[in-house]
Amino acid sequence: MTAPVTTQTATAHFADINPATGEKLADIASATPAEIVGAVATARSAWSAWRALDVEARCAILERVAASMAQHADELADLITREMGKPRAEALQEAEGYAAHGLEILEEVKLALAPQAFESRRAETVLVREPHGVVAAITPWNFPVGMPVTILFPALATGNTVVFKPSEHVPMCGALLARLFQEALPEGVLTLIQGAGDVGAQLVAADVDMIGFVGSRATGQRIMASASDGLKRLVLELGGKDPLIVFEDADLDRAAESVARHSLRNTGQVCCSVERVFVAENVAADFEKRVVEHARAWKHGDGFDESVHMGPMVSEEQRAKVVEQVDAAVRDGARLLLGGRAETGDGFFFPATVLADVDTSMKLSADETFGPVVSLTTFSGDEQEAIALANDTPYGLGANVWTADRERGARVAQGLQAGQVGVNRYLTSGSGTPWVGARQSGFGFLGGIEGHRQFTVPKTISTATPESPEA
Ligand code: ADP
Repeated sequence: MTAPVTTQTATAHFADINPATGEKLADIASATPAEIVGAVATARSAWSAWRALDVEARCAILERVAASMAQHADELADLITREMGKPRAEALQEAEGYAAHGLEILEEVKLALAPQAFESRRAETVLVREPHGVVAAITPWNFPVGMPVTILFPALATGNTVVFKPSEHVPMCGALLARLFQEALPEGVLTLIQGAGDVGAQLVAADVDMIGFVGSRATGQRIMASASDGLKRLVLELGGKDPLIVFEDADLDRAAESVARHSLRNTGQVCCSVERVFVAENVAADFEKRVVEHARAWKHGDGFDESVHMGPMVSEEQRAKVVEQVDAAVRDGARLLLGGRAETGDGFFFPATVLADVDTSMKLSADETFGPVVSLTTFSGDEQEAIALANDTPYGLGANVWTADRERGARVAQGLQAGQVGVNRYLTSGSGTPWVGARQSGFGFLGGIEGHRQFTVPKTISTATPESPEA
């Protein structure tokens, strides 16, 4: 774990803040340019031995990491709640759930790397998949264990070495996770560097072969621009502005419950939060009431208080963005039905908020909010109008549709430009399915056999058959 240091030295530091109290947990030293270059060089020199192990051997080592994560789930959960604020029970679910998910990833990677044979009269060809080399893993703070797991396990199991930069909001959680990997892995296979966006940018520009990134669209665009220099491989999982459509025949109460849960969960700080709800106008009044009833139950407070459903927002800046969007929407005619006002006092709290009559021209409807806000807009009830409204965004992560008519559900799902669609339920990413951001919600994708293969490049080896007529 990175030790707290004084600010007397020339090294730059950043503050690790508990968002529930505003209290400084630690000063963390940012990696210097020389340390970033050194970390990449270490990863590069560890690569040949790591890639030379077969996939079974690498997976056996990584199984020990998953077991160790499960053993340290309580410690990880404490750090998650202290550093980014989510309720402790959810933090524990994340730590335990993603330790188990790590094991699933390893089984999928074994399938993903299985060689494929192709035969012709002239040659026997085998298709193998080779690791890229050194992967920069750059992750966000909203799932401080979950998001790193989705990159680190496939990157390492496929034979790459890694330089890992966790978010500057969760450095101690990142450091503990890195230690659990390092205790099981050969030296140099995973190196940790700490720092904010400037450190991330230097890592991307360093001698890495691939960047595995989960974060905002704006940062993804910067990474892509920088990576063009070396034609570095990319997997970018970015934000969203997920729509949810409610037709007049929908089960309104279940839909309202889902809207509240998936707009407010993790204080709305989820890339696939429901951010735009389109409700058929003849059920809009009824639906509003039901949403408010459900949302009212979402109590906020310190994540260590067992009675709360939402913690604080991760930072004052994040909260200020939400305040700005909500205030502007109300000024421009949206009806505030619940919440809407940031709390004074320590901690970056913002209550469960419901707004109706949100116009699609408002910033609240266009930009990712990433806060605990339900945004309701009515539409005529027409299918094509609903699809057009839902697709009116550059994003394409998740989308949801609620209707009693299964055929309509299937038609609308087909028309939605999104990587994942839920019909009469939230998105389901079962084991083995990829996590896809279509359009500007991603570039490449993570998860499932296809996702894991993106940490590799295919290679064909063709051997002449004895009867082959040509060289
Ligand atoms: P968020 O703060 O919403 O998680 P960001 O995209 O800002 O989204 O941050 C995600 C991760 O990307 C963090 O680890 C952050 O430090 C890192 N990061 C921010 N800017 C850059 C950049 N220009 N290049 C590389 N990494 C960056």
